[in-house]
Amino acid sequence: MIADAEKLAPPGESVGNAGQAIAEQIVYVGRTMFEQRLTDFAGGNISVRDGDTIYISPRYAGSKQHWKLEPSDILSGAIANDDILAHPRFSREGKMHLAVYRTFPDAGAIIHAHPFHILPFVVANRPIEPVLEATQKFGVTELVPAAPAHSDALAHNVVEGMRGKDDRIRKQAVAVLIPYRGIVVAGKDLYNTLDALERIDWNAWCILAAKQLTS
Ligand SMILES: [Zn+2]
Repeated sequence: MIADAEKLAPPGESVGNAGQAIAEQIVYVGRTMFEQRLTDFAGGNISVRDGDTIYISPRYAGSKQHWKLEPSDILSGAIANDDILAHPRFSREGKMHLAVYRTFPDAGAIIHAHPFHILPFVVANRPIEPVLEATQKFGVTELVPAAPAHSDALAHNVVEGMRGKDDRIRKQAVAVLIPYRGIVVAGKDLYNTLDALERIDWNAWCILAAKQLTS
């Protein structure tokens, strides 16, 4: 496996001009997510599809790098095979990203995150109803069945949770909740995916805050 890993270009080295721009976007989105409390030190990952290639934030982007990534930290590899799994810096949650790209051809970007206002819902195993005009288009953000972290079963559950909702991806994005962990958003491109994540987080805050008004 190590030999395979060394065959892959080191992060950044295979990133050409188009790849450089995508890597810069991923860095920007990671920093913005962290500043907006859309994820935490514990984790999250961001990827973009460009043709047959995935670009993805590295393992430990939060815990070791505090989301201060450089474009050279971004990994890239083929979507069609599992070679990138052998890269020592490949995010263990990246299997979910590969599975979603392989299943949904319209998915152009994926964010997995641990957002401040969404975490109470995943802890309580509650779906998020759209209560804002700005979130109606996402419908109810449902929970998928729990599965061990980084497992094939979890990747499978995320794909099944999104199945049949391709029209939401084409429109903007679809999201599912992972019990006790966080959210996965798949969208048509990276900025639309980030926008969806932020809207659903504000929506979650509104549900929690509105309860205070009626008590
Ligand atoms: Zn996570």
